[in-house]
Amino acid sequence: MAPERRGRVRARPEPAQDRLRIAIPSKGRLREPTVELLHDAGLGPETPGDRALAFPCRNAPVEALLVRADDVPEYVQDGVVDCGITGLDIVRERGADVRELARLGFGACALQAAVPEVSGVRSVEGLRGARVATSFPRLARELLPEPIELVDVHGSVELAPRLGLADAIVDLVSSGSTLRTNGLRSLGTLLDSEAVLIAPPEPRPEALRLAGVFRSVVDARATRYLMLNVPEASLEQICALVPGSRAPSVLPLAEPGMVAVHSLVPAADVWRLLPELEAAGASSILLVPVERMLG
Ligand code: AMP
Repeated sequence: MAPERRGRVRARPEPAQDRLRIAIPSKGRLREPTVELLHDAGLGPETPGDRALAFPCRNAPVEALLVRADDVPEYVQDGVVDCGITGLDIVRERGADVRELARLGFGACALQAAVPEVSGVRSVEGLRGARVATSFPRLARELLPEPIELVDVHGSVELAPRLGLADAIVDLVSSGSTLRTNGLRSLGTLLDSEAVLIAPPEPRPEALRLAGVFRSVVDARATRYLMLNVPEASLEQICALVPGSRAPSVLPLAEPGMVAVHSLVPAADVWRLLPELEAAGASSILLVPVERMLG
């Protein structure tokens, strides 16, 4: 082999085994939000083509492998990858021996039991002895009352009662509109799911670090930075309105008798909060996104 010539030979790429390998869904509704999370975490994922099987990240020694969402738990359990992202429902259904490192705040849905509108069954408890169609047999068996007869179906689970295959179904629901369209009534949620980062029981330290970075992005996405001006006389009222455990910062303004209030607020509270703050005398209200939240 020719010796490397100083200054003329490009640095060798890092050996693949030193990089953190993360399995992510290759298609379906979890793929795009997962790539977006890698992006927002600052990893600099190379944009994967539709047929890519793997892609590197520009800013970190991380390599993403695109696999079926259903296969992620096994790849992680077997140590084929160092960590992975998939739905919590899939992780539980697979019963894989993995550790959940972070909830990722997207892909939210619920595993629900449902019956035809006309059914006399009113609760999950009432399903005792029923025939239930599902593509989640392990979770259905674990979360429904015994005895239960399961009919294993893949896709179009909602049709099973209409076809006379089952008395009830267990399936993933987000808005509930598919259930209604198919003449079904929910009996309740068996499991709340969202995308999660998982790792083997003894994760690599780099995987734990990545989980921390993801958590800081997820928390930041759910938060806004609020700034407003208020007469000092109304300060107490404003502080009582601003939720959250973190005390707001109160800063003096050049105008006598006026102060600025800065605070982190939950994004979900903003629609209710802004009119209340205005009514309490706040002015120059600014709301800005937060990129990261740590500590
Ligand atoms: P897909 O590959 O598109 O079938 O996505 C499968 C995963 O997306 C599920 O295992 C869930 O974790 C998640 N998900 C989020 N919302 C829904 C929904 N309404 N129906 C099915 N899966 C959902």
